[in-house]
Amino acid sequence: MSRPQPPIAMLAELTHVCPLACPYCSNPMELTKKSDELDTATWARVFAQAADLGVLQLHLSGGEPAARRDLVELVKAARDAGLYTNLITSGVGLTEAKLTALDAAGLDHVQLSVQGITAALADRIGGYKGGFERKMHVAERIAEIGFPLTLNAVMHRHNLDDLPATIALAQRLGARRIEVACVQFHGWAEANRGQLQPTADQVHAAKATVEAERERLKGALVIDFVAPDWFSDFPKACMGGWGSTGLNITPAGDVLPCHAAESIPSLEFANITQASLSDIWYDDAAFNAFRGTDWMPPLCQSCDRRDIDFGGCRCQAMAIAGDAKATDPICRKSPDRAKVDALLNVAPSEAPFVYRGRV
Ligand code: SF4
Ligand code: SF4
Repeated sequence: MSRPQPPIAMLAELTHVCPLACPYCSNPMELTKKSDELDTATWARVFAQAADLGVLQLHLSGGEPAARRDLVELVKAARDAGLYTNLITSGVGLTEAKLTALDAAGLDHVQLSVQGITAALADRIGGYKGGFERKMHVAERIAEIGFPLTLNAVMHRHNLDDLPATIALAQRLGARRIEVACVQFHGWAEANRGQLQPTADQVHAAKATVEAERERLKGALVIDFVAPDWFSDFPKACMGGWGSTGLNITPAGDVLPCHAAESIPSLEFANITQASLSDIWYDDAAFNAFRGTDWMPPLCQSCDRRDIDFGGCRCQAMAIAGDAKATDPICRKSPDRAKVDALLNVAPSEAPFVYRGRV
């Protein structure tokens, strides 16, 4: 296997603390305690190591990153290291004074998540009354300061029909880009599959909406749409291939090839307090576990798409086929494809959401 290219982007999950409790949260079921979080100096050291390694973009995420009292210091440290900084936030907990201080510290970009286009739906999804109103207020301050803004919407059965209105909201708030991602069923989302899974008709309608809106809004708004691959014949090239473009750091400093990698029980992750980011990126067993094509099952090894989709998503293979080394069960050639079809037939449930836990 040839030496991998350096990563382009790093996601720093600064904390698992969040005022919201979305039922599709990508945080693990077992959340990190505040007392186990990396301290300011360690994060600053990690940011410097990331820049040395070749990382260009730093995504500051959580939980809610604004729950870290040292957020401004962390942004400054990242900018001092030469990284482009993007704050991924629910907006709840960001004050006008904090936004002004983040601007002064050099924050480059804000990515604001929306849980719905009405207060009733957004607050129900986020499990936080008054959250939508506060978010809209924060969005106004973001626009006043002039941060480039991306709106980020996780879509599911309860809000996918609102896609045109969600795009209109992005425009109203002055966003330059909207990222629309259909919910990915790992962890908390998997526990809410019946409540969240959209229908095939909803997904197809959303694809048509995105196509038409991209044409209509050319030059005014960029629309990124991550459609689920459940209805496709082949899987997506997850993360552009395992350990090839980016990495994630958990609040406690574990270094992961992707945000859901902890769902693969056979992997052990190095901690940034015990090894350098460079050593982990190039030599860690978890990063090398699914790099290249050697690990692939014979079905993928002999397939002409193996350098296109890299055998799909390892976490999806783990979740559905029960084996991280299996062909992604989305693939029509996979012996496990029937399991995907069975999941797509899960009856819609009106049961209450299983909300993300609190730290
Ligand atoms: S998905 Fe919701 S609960 Fe999870 S970190 Fe984001 S805002 Fe918080
Ligand atoms: S067999 Fe493997 S490489 Fe080929 S299309 Fe399916 S998942 Fe991709």
